[in-house]
This record gives sequence, C-alpha cells and structure tokens, in this order.
Amino acid sequence: MFQKILIANRGEIALRVLRAAKELGIQTVVVHSTADADAMHVRLADESVCIGPPPSRDSYLNIHQIVAACEITGADAVHPGYGFLSENARFADILAAHNITFIGPSGDHIRVMGDKIEAKRTARRLGIPVVPGSDGAVSDEREATRIAAEIGYPVIVKASAGGGGRGMKVARDESDLEMALATARSEAGAAFGDDAVYIEKFLQRPRHIEIQVFGDGMGKAVHLGERDCSLQRRHQKIWEEAPSPALNDGERARIGAVCARAIADLGYSGAGTIEFLYEDGEFYFIEMNTRLQVEHPVTEAVTDLDLVHEQIRVASGAGLSVTQDDIRFTGHAIECRINAEDPRSFTPSPGTITHFHTPGGLGIRVDSGVYSGYRIPPYYDSLIGKLIVHGRNRVECMMRLRRALDEFVVDGIKTTLPLFRELVGNADIANGDYDIHWLEKHLAGE
Ligand code: ADP
Repeated sequence: MFQKILIANRGEIALRVLRAAKELGIQTVVVHSTADADAMHVRLADESVCIGPPPSRDSYLNIHQIVAACEITGADAVHPGYGFLSENARFADILAAHNITFIGPSGDHIRVMGDKIEAKRTARRLGIPVVPGSDGAVSDEREATRIAAEIGYPVIVKASAGGGGRGMKVARDESDLEMALATARSEAGAAFGDDAVYIEKFLQRPRHIEIQVFGDGMGKAVHLGERDCSLQRRHQKIWEEAPSPALNDGERARIGAVCARAIADLGYSGAGTIEFLYEDGEFYFIEMNTRLQVEHPVTEAVTDLDLVHEQIRVASGAGLSVTQDDIRFTGHAIECRINAEDPRSFTPSPGTITHFHTPGGLGIRVDSGVYSGYRIPPYYDSLIGKLIVHGRNRVECMMRLRRALDEFVVDGIKTTLPLFRELVGNADIANGDYDIHWLEKHLAGE
C-alpha cells in the first residue's frame, strides 16, 4: 500500500480523496494555488505545497510543479480527482517515468478514450452499442452532407477532443449543416487546440444513462450499475440519480455485463464511466470518462462501496475488494450539485459565504469544502458542494431530499438551491418522467 498520496486537485473532491486516504492510514499531501491557501483540504492535509498563482494553468495544471511537489514531499502516488489533470495522458506517463503511481488508468487508456473518435471505434470493437454516425472525423462539407443524409436529420456535430459540453452543434436540416460544422470546428479549435469534428445522429428525447465500471488492470472487471444524469443545462449535469427511473432490472444487468466485459477485455485499471444516451429501450455509447466522476456518491449510496478506497486499492496492485456477485444495489439515491451560480441564468456568483449550514439526519450526505466566512475565488469551477440523499425507494428519497433542501442554508452568494427546491415539487420529476431536454424546456417556461 502507498505511504503518501499527493492530491492534485481542490475543493470538495480534494477533501473527498483526503478522507479516503486518511481512513486507509495513508499520509496526505495537497497542492494548492495562492488563491486556495485558506481552503479546507489545505487545513486538513498532513502537508501542503503551494504550487503557483491562481490561474489553473500556472498551478493545478502545472505538471512540472506537481511532480516537484511529489519529489519534495516523498509522495509515492497521485490522485488527480476529476477535471484538471485527471484525463491527461501525458501527466500519467510523466508520473510513471518518475516512479510515482497515478491513481487511474494507464496513459494509453486515457489517450484512447480522450479522443472521442478513437473511443467510439474502440467501443464498437468491444461490442458496446454506439450512436450511428461518421466513422471518424469529417474532412469537408461534402462528406458531412453525404453522411448526414445517410443517417438522417437532425444530426449533431461534435468535437473529437470535446469535453464539458463544448464544441457541439445541432443541424436540423441540410441548410443548418454548414454553419454547425464551422461553429463546432472553431469552438473546438479555440477550446481544445484541435478542430477535428465528427457527426452523430441527434437523438430527440434520450436520457443520459452512464454505467460505473471498475477494472483491476489484470483482466477482471465489475460494473456498479447506472446513474441517470438526464437533468442537464447546457449539456452539463446538475442532478444525478441511481437507479434510473427508466430502466428495469433486466436492462440494467444486460448493459452492465456488456460494459464490464469490455473493460475486462481492455485490461483497464481503476474507475471509469461509460456514458450512453438511452432512447426507446436502446443504448448508444457517447463517451467514456477514465476517472472518478462528480456524481460517484450516488453509486456509493446504492452499493455501499467506497469508490476512492477501491481506486487506491487497485492502483496499489491489491485488486478490487469485491466480485460482481458481491455487489448488491439497495434503495435509491439522488445527488444535487450546489453551484455558486444564479439558479436561472447559471452565471457564476463568486464571493464570500456569510453563512453555511448543511442538512443532516438519516440518509443525508454533504460533500463540500466550504464553510461560513469562506471566500469563493473567481478562478475555478462553480461547484461548491453536493447534496446526496439515500432512501429505501425513490419516494422516500424524494421526501428526504425535499426536507434536506429546506434545511440547507448558503447565504452571501447565489446558488442552485432554489432550483432544486422547485424541482422536488415538480410532477414530472416526481414521476421520473424527464429526458435530457426537460430542464432547458422547463427553464424556458415551456
Ligand atoms: P462532453 O464530453 O462535452 O460532455 P458528451 O459526448 O458526453 O460531451 O455529450 C454531452 C451531452 O450532450 C449528452 O449528455 C447529451 O445531453 C448531449 N448529446 C451528445 N451527443 C448527443 C446526440 N448524439 N444526440 C443528442 N444529444 C447528444
């Protein structure tokens, strides 16, 4: 087992990883920017190293500084959290070259899945169902027009290097296509430095359902069921739940088994998420994330497994603590992402939290790194906390969620809490009757 883990992240996820490491008796080091000197994970870690000024590229994305921090503190492993360097293959390779364990898959697996076109090809080869579309990047408008006509409109143009919902444009018909291609290409070039785009059939009212998988890197793998993340704004998740109100046990077992087998065949190591759009009983692969997800706690709630413990075990070579037969799903869990944002326009609302009070009681978990008097720096993601609620079934879970949201107090800034208070009272949400477009239509007053 590792002696000392360096956590290359910030906010709630840095704290989440720190807690798991402490439980396993492993020393912790955190790195932080000058803007985060007062952060909770810095206060609670055994050691901390300031690695640079506020902008991420000079601190949390600065590989050189992070490797130096490992050498100075003698850390033998790095947990990247999510975002920042968590899906950076070069970072994984550089750590390996320094004999430091990256708590995650190999650089090669990150590389394959990080390129969405390559990921889709790999998924298809492994027997995972994919969205119909171009087999690779589209080179020009003529090719795009031909493919779009083949698969049928509407289509979506997506960036090969995409992430965070950027570089995606829908074309309703042929007259839209030229514009969609140009916009997606220029957005992709600006955001990712790679303007390769591909085309997919645009599904009209799918749900976003993702399967949590875990590989031991030695040819064994398990799945931990699904999460339904259909409630999104601007292609970003805001509410996640497990199990999905749309799936039955047979569908869950079938798609889970396909994913676990694929991960085993790949020789994949660590946590991963295989994301699908689901429509009319069919699953369509869209991408795989080769890291821990923001929404992992809903899976923890329904499986009673600590996913970060498992990540650390697997990375240390100790293998998974469970086999597929050991995994049982109990009850229902929902996560709400508490963002420092205006609840209608979603514009960021950084500033000082004058009062912070979290709900408690049976089935309630709050993962957050903030506290009363904490000043949210304007440089980073607006997620300030996650409320995760578990109940014996969806009805109980929703009752508990409503009560927990009433107790939650965050003063001094705007947050997404009022939106969730509205959603728990909505009939469609109560019935589990929503798709990936539901939230935007609801916000538009439709
Ligand atoms: P990113 O990596 O940028 O998050 P994804 O490929 O995971 O991109 O897609 C994000 C979201 O965009 C999906 O959850 C879904 O809401 C929407 N989306 C992506 N592909 C399609 C598609 N083919 N049809 C309809 N919606 C899509």
